[in-house]
Amino acid sequence: MADLKKDIAASVAVGLVAIPLCLGIAHASGAPLISGLVAGMTGGLVVGSLSKSQLSVTGPAAGLTTIVLAALATLKSFPAFLTAVFLSGLIQIAFGKFRVGGLSRLFPSPVIRGMLSAIGLILIMKQFPHLVGFDVESMGVEEFSDTDKDVEGGPSGGLNTFRLVALAVSSLEPGALLIGVLSMLVLFAWDWGGNRRFPTIPGSLVAVALAVTINQLLGPGLAVAGKHLVRIPELSPDNFLHPDWSALQNPQVYLVAMTIALVASVESLLSVEALDRLDPQHRSTPPNDELVAQGVGNVISGLLGGLPVTAVIIRGSVNLAAGATSKRSAIMHGAWVLISALALRGGINSIPLAALAAVLVHTGIKMAHPKNLKEMARRGLPQLIPYVVTVTAILFTDLLVGICVGTIVSGCFILRNLHVAKGFSVRKSGFITQIRLHQEVTFFHKVRLSGVLESIPPGSVVEVDGSEARFIDHDVLDLLRLYKDQATNKKIEIIFGGIALMDSFSDKQKAAMQDEYERLLRNNQAWVEDHGKNDPEYFERMAVGQKPTFLFVGCSDSRVPAEVITGTEPGELFVHRNIANVVSLHDMNLMSVLQYSVEHLVVPHIIVCGHYGCGGVRAALSSHSFGLIDNWVHPIKKVVDENQAELAAISDADLRERRVIELHVLAQVRNILKTPVVQRSIAKLGIPHVHGWVYDLTTGQIKDLKADVNLEDDLHPVFHYQYDFQTKTPVGKN
Ligand code: ZN
Repeated sequence: MADLKKDIAASVAVGLVAIPLCLGIAHASGAPLISGLVAGMTGGLVVGSLSKSQLSVTGPAAGLTTIVLAALATLKSFPAFLTAVFLSGLIQIAFGKFRVGGLSRLFPSPVIRGMLSAIGLILIMKQFPHLVGFDVESMGVEEFSDTDKDVEGGPSGGLNTFRLVALAVSSLEPGALLIGVLSMLVLFAWDWGGNRRFPTIPGSLVAVALAVTINQLLGPGLAVAGKHLVRIPELSPDNFLHPDWSALQNPQVYLVAMTIALVASVESLLSVEALDRLDPQHRSTPPNDELVAQGVGNVISGLLGGLPVTAVIIRGSVNLAAGATSKRSAIMHGAWVLISALALRGGINSIPLAALAAVLVHTGIKMAHPKNLKEMARRGLPQLIPYVVTVTAILFTDLLVGICVGTIVSGCFILRNLHVAKGFSVRKSGFITQIRLHQEVTFFHKVRLSGVLESIPPGSVVEVDGSEARFIDHDVLDLLRLYKDQATNKKIEIIFGGIALMDSFSDKQKAAMQDEYERLLRNNQAWVEDHGKNDPEYFERMAVGQKPTFLFVGCSDSRVPAEVITGTEPGELFVHRNIANVVSLHDMNLMSVLQYSVEHLVVPHIIVCGHYGCGGVRAALSSHSFGLIDNWVHPIKKVVDENQAELAAISDADLRERRVIELHVLAQVRNILKTPVVQRSIAKLGIPHVHGWVYDLTTGQIKDLKADVNLEDDLHPVFHYQYDFQTKTPVGKN
């Protein structure tokens, strides 16, 4: 209910702005005045009802006046022109049905903001003459290029808005100035608190009512009259015109229809889009539905003898500023145009133009507020420059040209950003090539990325970090996918972080994954049968208990399976594997495995088995941070640190890495020997023996590093624990 009141009040405010505009646009287009009112009613009642936009207002558009003027000159008949308006509506409906409306979303944000600011500035400049009683041009609000005809008896030669303002200042009308200034004060008073006190009454209505009253009270000499008041003609059925269908044979009609359809569609979509951005409730309008609604509007406006209609941003802004909450306001504004033309002519004709001008200047100030410029400056030059260019171009040319120029400039910035922005950065350290993808990786980066990937030598590790990327072009993903598939052949290991290379898996891929999994179970079944055939008691024997001879500490790498590379059977190896076979005395898992192996299984041998080409060691050798893994591979970095001199002497990076792997394995052997549990067992039983191995992925050969670490000679005394066994003498120095 409160919303309905707001909508009624807003519809009055919009109606008050729309009525003089309908007349002025018709006049400026060289069309009968009534055609403007017909377009206003159709825009409100028909398009208002059909449109899904809640705030936009449709009516005759100043942006089309030059097109209408030219069309009338070509067709030489207003009824023939109405046929073109009818056709343009059909074309717009087709646009909507074929869904071309989405293209309007491509208009860059600084251009749309620039358009709004420019229209605000134009409103201020155009309405300023009316505000001070210099009413030489009757339309003024939405037309951007003045001609001499706007100034009665004015100077010949070029006249632009700036000169018009100068002219207005030099010919002030005191009564109009008084009414204009008072109206402005009322409007600002409403902004500064009045709207909270009287939330259902629009400031514009108060301003206009006050203006009419004051004008009545001023008396002769000061009161404004005649051309300083709103003037609307009488509306009677005889005044309606209808399309001339014989004009369908004139090819020019189709050309005019297409031009109107294109320009009206662009203007409508821009207005609706701009208004959606201003909507405090953040509602959005589907563009194709809007085109259909606009098309129906033009079909009906043409049939009834009206001008072409578009969604119009200024009336829409007034609608929003006046507190409209839903499309009811726009529909009712159409009714007000109709009622005013039929019944309220006397009352409307007593409104001083200065009061209406105040409403529009006030709207203009809101739209062109300097905070927009500040906001765009904050966003940086690629937004600020297109914004300023758009504003300037619209002020000095017209709306459509200005938007085109702004869009081109903005487009250049977008292209430049796409091209100049690097998309990704590359760092090489030893075998490792790190490719860090930036926020936007576009088609433009594909060629360079492809070049980088091609230049990576065999035996390398490539890490592609996409954790920062917000957008990765499909072509780039395809490239990475292909590279991944080929990597094994190229002897390259590729690791992806933060990128899902597959957007989704196909049914075929899903079936293959499931089959992979089921293969394991099938293999198991086959294995069970195989063993049962040759040795019926095999599993019974296994179930009794284990007595493994070895503890095998290896890397988790899938290419280093302990049993397979040592040709051992189940029951022979007790296994612990982690990334890069690190022996950490803080690792509860490994320490538990060690204690169990030594104290309960009493294994005679512990083997630490590293492998050449270990990814964990490579991670440790790089200066790239991998997150949690950094902590895990820290012991390997320590090995590098402690053996700097030896490693520096090896010039070949491949050999150097192999040496690090060997030194790392030896260090882990010493770590095992440093544990009390192992020392205690050695002191008591003389076992386990601790060995260091390196497995070579390329040959399958195991290299025994002969890690004959001697507790007493090789480890610092602080690592020698003293035990006092009853059966044996303590180990260590006394
Ligand atoms: Zn490994």
